[in-house]
Amino acid sequence: MEAPLNFSYIKAKLATAGLKSTHQRIVIYNALLTSGHHPTAEELYALVKPGNPSISLGTIYKTLEAFVDGNLIRRVLTTDGLMRYDARTDTHSHIYCVNTQEIVDFSDPELHQWIEDYFRHKNIHNLKIREISLQISAEKINPAERIVVE
Ligand SMILES: [Zn+2]
Repeated sequence: MEAPLNFSYIKAKLATAGLKSTHQRIVIYNALLTSGHHPTAEELYALVKPGNPSISLGTIYKTLEAFVDGNLIRRVLTTDGLMRYDARTDTHSHIYCVNTQEIVDFSDPELHQWIEDYFRHKNIHNLKIREISLQISAEKINPAERIVVE
């Protein structure tokens, strides 16, 4: 694999998650950061295996779960039933393309506020919203083009 884009950045992120910077953790986190968005454990395994032949799929799973526990990454469960992982941990939502299984991030604080306000004005007792993350299933109008969020 290529060298991590920013070795000290990755080490600092692992430290804030309470994790020691082992070679495997650095390689896996770097692959998640550079793979675009929301790969599965199997996709990450295919990315890191050539440069790290001793790594196992089990190690990938265990490492990803340690990252989730440390709030370094998030799980994304898509409607295709696949568990994907997201290096982005800020509040955001997802557009899921049913044709290509591609996931596009979108952030809209106004929409999230609107949803919070909506629930506040409903008669729902004993409910405190912790996080809002929408997943919009969609298909491309033109399959040859990317979904672009402006
Ligand atoms: Zn995301």
